[in-house]
Amino acid sequence: MTRICNFSAGPSALPEDVLHEIKDELLDYAHTGMSIMEVSHRSSIYRDVIDETEASLRRLIGIPSSYRVLFLQGGASLQFAAIPLNLMRGKRAAYVLSGLFSDKAQREASRYGTVEIVGSSEDTAFDRIPDLGQIDQRISADGGFDYLYICQNNTVYGTMFDVLPTCRNTPLVADVSSCFLSAPHEIERYGLIFAGAQKNAGPAGTTIVIVREDLIETGPACADICPSYMDYRLQAHKGSMFNTPNTFGIYACGKVFSWIERTGGLEAMERRNRAKADLLYRALDESALFHGTADPGSRSITNVTFRTESSELDEAFIEFARLRGIEGLKGHRAIGGLRASLYNAIDLASVNTLVACLHEFEASKRSSMRS
Ligand code: PMP
Repeated sequence: MTRICNFSAGPSALPEDVLHEIKDELLDYAHTGMSIMEVSHRSSIYRDVIDETEASLRRLIGIPSSYRVLFLQGGASLQFAAIPLNLMRGKRAAYVLSGLFSDKAQREASRYGTVEIVGSSEDTAFDRIPDLGQIDQRISADGGFDYLYICQNNTVYGTMFDVLPTCRNTPLVADVSSCFLSAPHEIERYGLIFAGAQKNAGPAGTTIVIVREDLIETGPACADICPSYMDYRLQAHKGSMFNTPNTFGIYACGKVFSWIERTGGLEAMERRNRAKADLLYRALDESALFHGTADPGSRSITNVTFRTESSELDEAFIEFARLRGIEGLKGHRAIGGLRASLYNAIDLASVNTLVACLHEFEASKRSSMRS
């Protein structure tokens, strides 16, 4: 069996060790004679799984006891509605428009209250993170926002906030779906972070929400219309078991969290991720054929977006790479081009393979132009 180099943006590569562990336990979890998928979520066996998964995540990130951890369903997209339904008490929130998913989030939020865009990079086709100084100024001059919302890493455009906005008393809410656990999170800087699991945390179907308890203790802001499932206080009270949770997904996330702990934690993960990203960006910067599309000051360490001079050549490169065991390089359908996602399970050797493939393709184009 050969596994390919999978640079997909999500669902994406999982650590091989984790896949082996899951395989080994699949038919008989912890001598129960059952797969974990067949175990009742109300059993003590499963209670131990979800408790240990949460404990492992708390150790990894260093989550203070004043924050609640929820394991929900509905993907990151359901949180676009759950956030305003729970947190829009004054019916007014600030959003930074930095790409496709912050746009989806602000559209959803505007169904429940007033959304003000306090920073945008739409005018440069989302190639960068909007000016932080301007955002900070807007937030400090106006104390009336329920929260400031950012998409911390823009999966589609390959940009990320390397520095967070300073938002004083306004809670910062961040979609960290595509940078979750790729580096340490300074959790106390946020009111809430959330992530769909399918990039760095586990299989699709689980969404992790980490929220400061005081923001939810009086129940949802829009209590009259907030579905019970999306009520953070209720979910926290029920230990993410208001209904049947995604038992397998949470179990698999737990395996990934333990793997990160075993392999050095989030600082080590960040060092590895920066080394991988530097290697690929350097290759793109030195290339005459490929070029990175994100402004160098805003480059993501997890999603590297690039292109050639034409969509035909991009397609040709995708095929060329596929023949060499490299998959997942197609850019998001909204913008085309090329993208390599360098999540935690991708090792430096895979990035070296990709860089060699870029060089080989470029050399083949040069020689075909000469002949
Ligand atoms: N936010 C970001 C940053 C994403 O990358 C994605 C999915 N790629 C989403 C939200 C939407 O996630 P889901 O499909 O889990 O709803």
